[in-house]
Amino acid sequence: MNVLVINSGSSSIKYQIFNMSNNNVLASGVIERIGESQSSLKHRWLKPDDEYEELSLTQEIVDHKEGFQWITNVSEETGLTKQLKELFGIGHRVVHGGEVFHKPTFINDEVIEAIRKMVPLAPLHNPANLVAIEAALKNYPDVPQVAVFDTAFHQGMPPYAFHYAVPYELYNDYHVRRYGFHGTSHQFVSRQAAIHLGRPLNELNMITLHLGNGASAAAVRGGISVDTSMGLTPLEGLIMGTRCGDIDPSLPFYIAQRSGMSLNDIDRMLNKESGLKGICGANDMREIIGRAKENDALAALSLDMFCYRIKKYIGAYFAVLGDIDAAVFTGGIGENAALVRQKCCEGLERLGLSIDAGKNDSPSREVREINQNAAPVKVLVIPTNEELEIAVQTVETILAVK
Ligand code: ADP
Repeated sequence: MNVLVINSGSSSIKYQIFNMSNNNVLASGVIERIGESQSSLKHRWLKPDDEYEELSLTQEIVDHKEGFQWITNVSEETGLTKQLKELFGIGHRVVHGGEVFHKPTFINDEVIEAIRKMVPLAPLHNPANLVAIEAALKNYPDVPQVAVFDTAFHQGMPPYAFHYAVPYELYNDYHVRRYGFHGTSHQFVSRQAAIHLGRPLNELNMITLHLGNGASAAAVRGGISVDTSMGLTPLEGLIMGTRCGDIDPSLPFYIAQRSGMSLNDIDRMLNKESGLKGICGANDMREIIGRAKENDALAALSLDMFCYRIKKYIGAYFAVLGDIDAAVFTGGIGENAALVRQKCCEGLERLGLSIDAGKNDSPSREVREINQNAAPVKVLVIPTNEELEIAVQTVETILAVK
């Protein structure tokens, strides 16, 4: 059973083909610069001898429909004709499902319309996702397709957690509330944590920390996200590579008054020029840690701020959940930066989090525990795999309607 997973941007399509019987990636790749004269394709595929091979091509690809045709052609040329013919389903990552979508959903005309209605909430992402869905439907009309939403996992938040204390009409008129993102990753690692702990997910409380260039925390009770750090947009919450996370909401008005910057300029600054980059000029955690170790004061400050914010969320979500069985680190930083994990958990022994320095410092690609053996809370490092989670949810959704 093979599943194609699509993650599309306005000028790009990322794809992976999974063999769901063993979770092997049969092929993966990315098309970039769609609509330009020199579109590029990177394609990696599994050969019959179980080795991967890669190729890079350039060609003019005018739109996403041509992009899918290119993927089909290159897959056929690299011996994947049968695998594509036998596709069980296609799973699309869709950024915003608003309040309509609580779970992955079989795509039909109504669902496409509903995703379109959500465009004001995700003006950059949902249109790009829709273009890819419509192109994929044209290219693979006989294959069932499923939308998997970044927001869906957090739809379990209770109203007192998702409302902002602003006039209630804004919720009715403009759907202003907290939604949360990275849901597929939080869901994937919470499922993996339950498997690792050998306990049913619905009996476990955990705090999941997705720390990549974008970063968010979630409080997961019994497999349901009951709070998360991102909000109406991904700007809220943790400090990120280039996003500020939580700030005083008056800050933009103050800056506008003082500097004359426009709302658009401030929006751009808070999303693209803030966070780690805003403090020390870099958003690559490897560089920041390297510079901090060489006593670069601003790199050290940004690292301290990043970890301090995470620690505050761990404390808050501990209070939300009452008690926790596990804290899970994932994402490029969460999986690889031992120093970040150590600093986030420092001083939280009273909450049951005690890291074993030796385990924390041993790199691995596997799911692993880094807590001290006797610690009441498991601290886990779990490599995320959003594409695999999308593939799994695609299969579950198609089987449920069959
Ligand atoms: P994205 O949100 O773009 O998917 P990733 O999850 O790939 O981001 O995470 C990117 C971040 O992970 C970058 O800040 C990068 O520096 C950091 N990272 C990757 N490898 C390491 C490492 N070995 N040590 C520290 N940070 C790392």
